[in-house]
Amino acid sequence: MSAALPPRLARLIRQDVQGMHAYAVQPSEGMVKLDAMENPHRLSPALQRELGERLGAVALNRYPGQRVETLRQALATYAKVPEGFDLMLGNGSDELISMLAMACDVPGASILAPVPGFVMYGMSAQLQGLKFIPVDLTPDFELDERAMLAAIEQHQPSIIYIAYPNNPTANLWDDAVIERIVQAAPGLVVIDEAYQPFASRSYADRITRHGHVLLMRTLSKFGLAGVRIGYLIGPAALIAQIDKVRPPYNISVLNCEAALFALEHADVFDEQAAQLRRERGLLLERLAALPNVKAWRSDANMVLVRVPDADRAFQGMKARGVLVKNVSKMHPLLANCLRLTVGTADDNAQMLQALQTSL
Ligand code: PMP
Repeated sequence: MSAALPPRLARLIRQDVQGMHAYAVQPSEGMVKLDAMENPHRLSPALQRELGERLGAVALNRYPGQRVETLRQALATYAKVPEGFDLMLGNGSDELISMLAMACDVPGASILAPVPGFVMYGMSAQLQGLKFIPVDLTPDFELDERAMLAAIEQHQPSIIYIAYPNNPTANLWDDAVIERIVQAAPGLVVIDEAYQPFASRSYADRITRHGHVLLMRTLSKFGLAGVRIGYLIGPAALIAQIDKVRPPYNISVLNCEAALFALEHADVFDEQAAQLRRERGLLLERLAALPNVKAWRSDANMVLVRVPDADRAFQGMKARGVLVKNVSKMHPLLANCLRLTVGTADDNAQMLQALQTSL
């Protein structure tokens, strides 16, 4: 909780900001941490040492320079950016989401996204003085095509976010529905593929069909959540405009070097993602065997479950040292839902045990 501001300072801070909640990060020291879709694996000690040497050699006295351009190009190669398209970097995709809102700041502009979804889409709109248009998913967490098309027609949004897969529901959408939404969009459509390492499909090879679709990715779920590197791919002329709102030197030299190192060892991270996909399969099987727990399918490194009493289950799991995310108050469609990040075999076993005894 923040203390109340004295009146002469309260006058200076936007009323809507004073009414907002800060993005909450739960304390997790010493817990089985399954609340934020992080990759549970650290680098091997040998790679960690090698990275340490690389980071030790980085000049910290200079602003980030050419090395960031090297990273940008390495990511463009890694992500196979098509001809005529370009890639820009953000300090996590969170920063890209903020920059997109900043670039689209015209009077009356709006941002539309299905909900429940990633909270930053709405937050970035609000902070930029744009209207946020949330469109409810169906009760089985599919895109409500009619509602989406009606809201697009009515509000003519500057940006539509489609998380593919979605957070916290972990599913991909019907591709034909996405296509009709893209066709109907009067502004930009951002396909947010934060969970791409765990997904069975990607939108990547379809972005060239349109001039108004952007693809957003992050290294966070790949295994570098602490490094904060996100990237946005789109038509070169459009990226050049959005890039103008990017704060100078937004990528730290240490983040940049760590990301370059990780790309050189992409096979290690790909193997970790493959292992987490296998663990996800096992977790889903075990969840299906639990009475009173409904688990939805997942194309991400998380599983959404519904339990008889989410608050009780969350507190019980926490008391047993397992931290998950209680999303039950986020949206009426998520009543009694918890979001479980897929961890190591050990993490998942502890989580299941804690869940079972906390129902
Ligand atoms: N998009 C989605 C759908 C997410 O769930 C998240 C984070 N959980 C992000 C973007 C932001 O990722 P980051 O800022 O770590 O790149």
